[in-house]
Amino acid sequence: MQTNNLNTELEEQHLAAVKDNYLKLQAEIKLWQREQAPGAVAEFQLASASPFFTLDSLPEESIIDLWQRLNRVADEPQEKADLRILLDKFKNGEPLVNPAAARLQLALAGVARMICQHLVPNPGEANQPFGTCPVCGEKHFMTLLAPPVGKRYQQCLVCGYQRPVNASGCACCGSMEAKKQTYLKSEQYPGIEVAVCSDCGSYFKQVDLRELSVEDLVWEDIRTMPLNYAAEKWLAGQNGWN
Ligand SMILES: [Zn+2]
Ligand SMILES: [Zn+2]
Repeated sequence: MQTNNLNTELEEQHLAAVKDNYLKLQAEIKLWQREQAPGAVAEFQLASASPFFTLDSLPEESIIDLWQRLNRVADEPQEKADLRILLDKFKNGEPLVNPAAARLQLALAGVARMICQHLVPNPGEANQPFGTCPVCGEKHFMTLLAPPVGKRYQQCLVCGYQRPVNASGCACCGSMEAKKQTYLKSEQYPGIEVAVCSDCGSYFKQVDLRELSVEDLVWEDIRTMPLNYAAEKWLAGQNGWN
């Protein structure tokens, strides 16, 4: 497949600044999780059936506390009372302005991850169904091909739950029709491809961990944002890369 240079130098510089900021916020999240996990996890009850929790059911005090910490790190401090009002708005479907909304998403994921890590049992090796996350019910994920044989896993980018899934098929809708699925790659991003499914009109990224070592899938998703645009163009029928 023909590839374009998707990032200009200017975009690379912007990406480096975004990464710095991202790493700073992630460091704060890890610190907060270590401090808060014992108390927050002890009080939390998983649902008896999947999904074991939803973002709406996470403890609000934890979300607000972490969100406030992230705002402080970003030098945009806000009072908890104000954050509570904003969280209510967000839950009612009102859009929040960036970057406060972006930090709220990080806070939600930080709390979800902490609860998933401490309370949800290991998934074992039997393949699980594709689709939304069985732990948090979200549909923001990547698939991974693990060494040595490329066994496939689906990992939720919200709560971090990783489960084994079938080696082929659309991880969004489960369609097994190979000719309905197109894999787009770019030389710029070795080891990662975006799978586009014409059965459900969705796309998802797949990382081959035999080719590429990835420490942080969420960052990998952000870093490779041009692949999203390529997939959207493809789905819109413009076939933009050729
Ligand atoms: Zn999840
Ligand atoms: Zn599909």
